[in-house]
Amino acid sequence: MNVSGQLVLDTYGRSSGFAIDPIEKKPLNHFLPGSRILSFGTAGCNLGCKFCQNWTISTSRHFDSLASVASPSDIAEAALAHGCTAVAFTYNDPVIFAEYAIDTAAACRERGIRPVAVTAGYVCDPPREEFFAAMDATNIDLKGFTDDFYRKITGGRLATVLETLEHVAATSCHLEITTLVIEGHNDSDTEFATMSRWIVEHLGPDIPHHFSAFHPDHRMRDVPPTSPATLSRARQIAMDGGERFVYTGNVYDPRGQSTFCPACDHLVIERNRYRLGRIDLSIAPDGSGSCAACSTPIPGVFA
Ligand code: SF4
Repeated sequence: MNVSGQLVLDTYGRSSGFAIDPIEKKPLNHFLPGSRILSFGTAGCNLGCKFCQNWTISTSRHFDSLASVASPSDIAEAALAHGCTAVAFTYNDPVIFAEYAIDTAAACRERGIRPVAVTAGYVCDPPREEFFAAMDATNIDLKGFTDDFYRKITGGRLATVLETLEHVAATSCHLEITTLVIEGHNDSDTEFATMSRWIVEHLGPDIPHHFSAFHPDHRMRDVPPTSPATLSRARQIAMDGGERFVYTGNVYDPRGQSTFCPACDHLVIERNRYRLGRIDLSIAPDGSGSCAACSTPIPGVFA
């Protein structure tokens, strides 16, 4: 809202909805696996993705989609009351309600609740630095690896997102990446290989990377859903490129969703979509993890 020439965040303290999810649904596979997370968002977005699966709230410009009034401390207390270890700022992009998210993150940290941002990372400095300093973990979309895709399909630019990824990777905020794969738009072998090379060179081989299936929605209802074979191809190319923890999402693929030790291939965390199976991970008092079979470190935050 523009008031007397100044921009005012008119969604502060107003949510478009709450849900309690498994943390794997954000998706986060290496941050407190098996825990519950309280998710909420507001309305609007700074991108206009043609495939947006939350378009009813991301395209909203008005209070009419903001049902709940919730202060930062209300949200932190609700997370505690419902046995959640974390709060996620999600559904629409939290960088557009940064003041509300940062205040809520502080209220969460005061109570031992971990703040998590699920974002497209389309934000510049200095707000980028302030926003991620408030977060303990984040999942950032890397929606494709060509500027053409970003401009035509999302309305944003690739370079800004890459700058955000490099910034967060250099901080203590736990980072995972999600790529929504849309056949015919961002699924060429070359694009996957180029993306993987950049991730390994600029962020390192240990950032968990999720390749998720698209389903037809919003302004891309004429594009078919992503096949499991395409996601498996993306995963294989990324692993061949040197990424060590690569996952598929939104499809049935227990092997592609489980965590294996990169040294001895031991199954350390078994998953089927958002459900956990066997966990064979040694966890140190500081929350670091290692393979129970060969002691190779498994990056992440565990409890
Ligand atoms: S950044 Fe996310 S919420 Fe915003 S338009 Fe794109 S997909 Fe939708």
